[in-house]
Amino acid sequence: MLKEFARAKINLTLDILGVRADGYHEVSMIMQTIALADAVTLEKISGGVTLAMDATGIAGGETIPTDERNLAWRAAVEFQKFCGKDLGVAIALTKKIPAAAGLAGGSADAAAVIRGMNRLYDLHLTEDELCTIGACVGSDVPFCIIGGTCLSEGRGEVLTRLAPVKKFGVVLAKPDGEISTAWAYKTYDAQPATVHPPTQEIIAQMASGDYDAAFKNFSNVLESVALKKIPAVADCKRKFLSAGARVALMSGSGPTVFALTDDDAAAKRIAAAVDTQVFITKFH
Ligand code: ATP
Repeated sequence: MLKEFARAKINLTLDILGVRADGYHEVSMIMQTIALADAVTLEKISGGVTLAMDATGIAGGETIPTDERNLAWRAAVEFQKFCGKDLGVAIALTKKIPAAAGLAGGSADAAAVIRGMNRLYDLHLTEDELCTIGACVGSDVPFCIIGGTCLSEGRGEVLTRLAPVKKFGVVLAKPDGEISTAWAYKTYDAQPATVHPPTQEIIAQMASGDYDAAFKNFSNVLESVALKKIPAVADCKRKFLSAGARVALMSGSGPTVFALTDDDAAAKRIAAAVDTQVFITKFH
């Protein structure tokens, strides 16, 4: 039996550059792994896939499927297909990452299964091979396999590792309600953004340690879309900023809002400023 952490991500920026001929959106996003994680344990079995999930710790956990639609299960099937062998696996999943929240909880689980099956069966597949398997499950899965701080382009699978950044504290506020990624992109297409984040400039500012300048440029083009469904997103941002957050922004397609902080005392103060579900974590 082995254990893998399935760590969540936040988007320091999220830009949409257009819709491609294959129907996917061309994106440009700076992604950051955070310490908040689901726990995934894997055990060899004679064949096939089984999944046991404990999602009692998160709101709306009962809506996450526990059959072949679960992204952890799908990842195991794609792994078996890639290897051309019935590498049986029993997956046990303990959810801590809120679902449909913009934190890539499902993609993180899929990535943990792919990394874990490689170890479980001692296969030594390369990171590129693991990412190829991950891309069959979802656009964010390759990033969740690699982790750290990355520029994510294409439909999310073209990854460039960025220079290590300061380990900021992170406070997450999860307003009530869920946003499906498909709905957010569809709504965005009807009214695309006219202002886009200066992604390359932000990368250069972070690399030189000029975080104040980078934070001023952070933006997520899906924020205005999410606000139409969950106005509390704006409220969380306002409260985080007036409690002293260095920056506050929605992650992914929302509705989770993150604040970055320098120390634990600031994180506690900022967390106390919102009345929604809140998590204190950090860059990983
Ligand atoms: P992203 O930031 O990539 O858009 P998200 O955080 O918004 O992701 P997820 O938590 O990955 O969204 O969940 C999206 C959908 O996937 C949910 O509707 C959920 O039911 C389904 N799902 C399937 N498998 C899982 C899983 N293992 N964990 C969470 N959700 C899952």
